[in-house]
Amino acid sequence: MRIAVFSTKEHDHKFLDEANAHYQHAITYFEPRLTRETVSLAEGFEAVCVFVNDQLDRQTLETLAKGGTRLIALRCAGFNNVDVLAATELGMRIVRVPAYSPYAVAEHTLGLILTLNRKIHRAHNRVRESNFALEGLLGFDLHGQTVGIIGTGQIGQVVARITHGFGCQILAYDPYPVADLEQLGVRYVELAELLAQSDIVTLHCPLTPDTFHLIDAESLVKMKQGVMLINTSRGALLDTRAVIDALKSGQVGYLGLDVYEEEAALFFEDLSEKVIQDDVFMRLLTFPNVLITAHQAFFTRDALTQIAHTTLQNVSDFASNQPLPNQVTVQQVKR
Ligand code: NAD
Repeated sequence: MRIAVFSTKEHDHKFLDEANAHYQHAITYFEPRLTRETVSLAEGFEAVCVFVNDQLDRQTLETLAKGGTRLIALRCAGFNNVDVLAATELGMRIVRVPAYSPYAVAEHTLGLILTLNRKIHRAHNRVRESNFALEGLLGFDLHGQTVGIIGTGQIGQVVARITHGFGCQILAYDPYPVADLEQLGVRYVELAELLAQSDIVTLHCPLTPDTFHLIDAESLVKMKQGVMLINTSRGALLDTRAVIDALKSGQVGYLGLDVYEEEAALFFEDLSEKVIQDDVFMRLLTFPNVLITAHQAFFTRDALTQIAHTTLQNVSDFASNQPLPNQVTVQQVKR
């Protein structure tokens, strides 16, 4: 099948080309994000393949449909950037990669927690400048801390198991509790209790209309003073301005982000020679207790290999009229 692949970097070519030796699709790579401005590039392609920051709103989808596109293949798990209802009305199918190495994201989450706590990034810089003082590097034992996990799907479950291995107490909030985790000692509680009891709150639920700004000024005041807040899920789960206020007051003691609500204008590009116009993001960078990575939690060899294979298998299933196990439906959006 002819596939237009958007938002591509060198690593996308490498992993998709390797996998495509098996699937034999006709792939054309486009570097730009898919937006209203770039959608004309997709004309005539039956399938378009997109990533986390491509913008598939109704207008873009209408143009795609007119140009002959029948399949949207997301090479990621989240589908918050696609108007699923509009795509369905236009007769397009949407497929995604629901599970690819949840370990990649879970392990990165722990990387943020450990780095923030023990200030490894700051220690590294100091030692490189022959500053061997320990002042300002004081951390705490993770053992015995209470970790609150919001969303115990694929990734949240791995975070629960890893933090259990560290000797943490684990609270969880998810409309669908997982029995295996309960057997491990994870306690499912209401969101308010999780926020009130946790030393570390980590987000692993999808971004939906229900979870937009799940963490806002109201929920921040319910948290423990000095809480560590981690978001490797989707940026708009946090009201960033409210979190900045909470950092200023000390209510949030540590913030670890791999995602940011306005990341589409920043992440995945080298902007080191540019003046960044996003004042909210730049304010975040001024805090000594904030650690940000640019949406790299998924970025492991293993995850990229799985993403490439599942994406191309999804396209093959569609091309040969097979059932689509990884289809995104309107019902999932409403769930
Ligand atoms: P998943 O679908 O397996 O799990 C999501 C869980 O969230 C489900 O158990 C669901 O019941 C729960 N949930 C839904 N609404 C909720 C709510 N209001 N409150 C609490 N829980 C709720 O997804 P996953 O594979 O574990 O991924 C989780 C999220 O991580 C994705 O939605 C995606 O946005 C993000 N993600 C980020 C990266 C990255 O590189 N940073 C990579 C992959 C996924």
